[in-house]
This record gives sequence, structure tokens and C-alpha cells, in this order.
Amino acid sequence: MEKTIGFIGAGNMAKAMIGGILQAKILPPEKVFLSNPHKEKLEAMKKEFGVQITLDNKEVAQRADILVLSVKPYLYSKVIQEIKDEIQQYTILVNIAAGVSIESIEQTFAKKVKVVRVMPNTPAQVGEAMSCVCVNKEVTKEELQEVMDIFHSFGEAEVIDENLMDVATGVSGSSPAYVYLFIEALADGAVLEGMPREKAYKLAAQAVLGSAKMVLESKEHPAKLKDQVCSSGGTTIEAVACLEKNYFRSTVIQAVQTATQKSKEMG
Ligand code: NAD
Repeated sequence: MEKTIGFIGAGNMAKAMIGGILQAKILPPEKVFLSNPHKEKLEAMKKEFGVQITLDNKEVAQRADILVLSVKPYLYSKVIQEIKDEIQQYTILVNIAAGVSIESIEQTFAKKVKVVRVMPNTPAQVGEAMSCVCVNKEVTKEELQEVMDIFHSFGEAEVIDENLMDVATGVSGSSPAYVYLFIEALADGAVLEGMPREKAYKLAAQAVLGSAKMVLESKEHPAKLKDQVCSSGGTTIEAVACLEKNYFRSTVIQAVQTATQKSKEMG
């Protein structure tokens, strides 16, 4: 790709995305620009990735063809006001914030602006992100494809309707945290039963990874895969009964609903 990409905000998400883009060699590090108010953070990112760094958000906005606003949602309007005049007709603004709509960004500009809204997640760092993408009408098909190529470089990416962005936040943007809780709890259970902690994390994480792969690759209904593990009168059905008794599934359903509602409130 000939374009440049800029990130305003050098936090978890920028790090995950930059790591993915460079690993996939979509762009060389000299075409990646990054700004943040903390010099130490920038220098750490330069050391790790060799990207171009600056304390000046405006400089990144000027140099980027594709500009990712990777700051917390509450900072969006402040940062947009700051960089507004640097945005060119060709600049593609990528909004990755939970709960920030395309319309709210368009309203901040007194001119037409190309906006892509994306809900990625942090497994981008290991090339296994799930990113949900939608665009406004200023973005051409070719530009959408370029953005999809970037998000495909570090995982799966799907175009969805903007009205599904809040639930995408609940089910994939935020869900790595729920899965880490699950892995931690699985390992704690194993430690309680005498397994060394490091081994317990490995067993738990690999079991989750393998199960997720089974769902994606076998295309079987998750309930059917669950049934295959549960032999009659066996150990697994005992554990499943325990989870059901303690509202495991309804708790997870409510967690997704809660994150979705929160995303709606932030919009
Ligand atoms: P983060 O707190 O790790 O990173 C934000 C960075 O912005 C920090 O390095 C901070 O120093 C910097 N910053 C603060 N003020 C700034 C300013 N005025 N100008 C430039 N940089 C500034 O946050 P994150 O988890 O990377 O989240 C970034 C965005 O990504 C958020 O909008 C969030 O909703 C979205 N997002 C995050 C995740 C996730 O799993 N973390 C998933 C999907 C979407």
C-alpha cells in the first residue's frame, strides 16, 4: 500500500494495531505515524516498532492518509477540535471509540469528511482481532477495501450496519476481557486442585483457543460440540450442570447486554 497511516493516542489499541500491521508488512514502519502527550510512551513504541513519533497530534493528522483516533472516547471531541483544520479532502478518519457515532464526528466538521467506524479488539496484537467496520457515504468502495485490508492484516474483519456497532462492542470489542476472566477462573480451579499455576494457564488458554477454533472451523452448532464432550454420567456434564445452576449462560448474556447498553449511552 502506498498510503500512510497515523495514530493519535499510543495506548493498547494503537499498539495492537501497529503490531499487526507491521507484522503483516502492510506498511513499513516509516509510513506509520504516532502521537501521544507522553514522551516515554512514544519512545517505547519507537523502540519496539521503529515508527515515526511526535508529541504533536496535528503533525500526525497532516501526514496521515488514514488517521486512526486511538484515544479514549471522552477525548474524541477535544482531539477532533485540535486537528480539524489539518484534515484533507482525501483523509480517511478511522473512529475506533466505543459509542462514538459517525454522525457525531461528521457534525464536528463544517466540511464533508470521510469517516470509517470500526470496533476492533486487542487480539489484533497476535493477528487474531475481530473488527467490525462501517463507513459514511463519503468513503468510496476502493477506500473501504483499503481499510478492510488493514484490518484483515491482523485478524478477521466484517462490514456491518452502524446500528449493530453497540452490540459488536458487547460481543467482540469488549469480550476478550470476559474470556480472560474465564481463563483465569479455569486456571484458579486447577490451582485449587493442585496444578502448578503456569501449567494451569497454559491448559486453560489452549482449551479455549482450541474450542473457539472448533466453532469456527467445524461450522457445527456450539451446543452440538458441547454435547460431544459430555458423555453420560461423566465428568463434563457434572461441570456443565454446575455452571447452569450458577447462571453461567444467563450471566454472560447479561454481560453482553450491559456492555451494549453502555456503548449506546456513550453515543
Ligand atoms: P488507552 O488508554 O490504552 O490509550 C489511549 C492513549 O491516548 C494513551 O496512551 C494516552 O496517553 C493517549 N492520550 C491521552 N490524551 C491524548 C491526547 N490529547 N492526544 C493524544 N493521545 C492522548 O486506550 P485504548 O484501550 O487503546 O483505547 C483507545 C480507543 O480504542 C478507545 O476509544 C476505545 O474505546 C477503543 N477500543 C479499545 C478496545 C480495547 O480492547 N482496549 C477495543 C475496541 C476499541
